[in-house]
Amino acid sequence: MDFHCHLDLYPEAREVYKEASKRNVFTWLVTTSPRAFAANQRVLEASPTVLITPGLHPEIAHERASELGLLLEQIAAVCAVGEVGLDGSPRFKPYYEIQRDIFSAIVARCAELGGRTLNIHSRRAVRDVLDELRQHPGFGIAVLHWFSGTQAELRAADAQGCWFSVGPVMLESAGGRALAARMPRDRVVPESDGPFAKIAGKPIMPWSANQTAIKLSVLWEISVEEATQLLRRNGERLLMLMKCH
Ligand code: MN
Repeated sequence: MDFHCHLDLYPEAREVYKEASKRNVFTWLVTTSPRAFAANQRVLEASPTVLITPGLHPEIAHERASELGLLLEQIAAVCAVGEVGLDGSPRFKPYYEIQRDIFSAIVARCAELGGRTLNIHSRRAVRDVLDELRQHPGFGIAVLHWFSGTQAELRAADAQGCWFSVGPVMLESAGGRALAARMPRDRVVPESDGPFAKIAGKPIMPWSANQTAIKLSVLWEISVEEATQLLRRNGERLLMLMKCH
């Protein structure tokens, strides 16, 4: 399983898409813009194991703000949304107000439609993401991808019922491992974030959940089999809650 992958952005994207749809029981293809979502729906052959969702990545929010209307329309027809969120790091902080307007409109729309599952980027913006979610009760389910906040922010996100998608690159850093060690183990699912996430210059592939399980088994002091089973059960439970079928 892979709960956060940019399948459409690998070199050889079609091949990776085909292989992921065979090797994984589930792959969540998060798009970075509403137009990319529309293009993927046209170009990629639908697969029962791949979920493609419309998004608007906070790193390009200022360039794609005009596509917000399209995204709000697309959200009506899907069970889940992503990649969306906020990025407060220095490079994207100048556009933070635009990001906030967009994210707020997305979360409000999900609440208005009775709830959606959101795959959320929250780099240097966890507090604002959580505030936004709280302001729209009934928005649905939040999956915080590649969580990189503080331990206090992790506790706040846990208290709000967030899920966490965790991948091999996040677990390469001491900070990432310290966070994963404290995550609620029944709300952690695997992600790749490929092809952006790389180890030794090679993109993480969507069928890399075993790498995540190995790393988590060390942090959680359980066997690799137990970690594998736990991630699998969590993934299945989240998929039930997402009601995508
Ligand atoms: Mn991503």
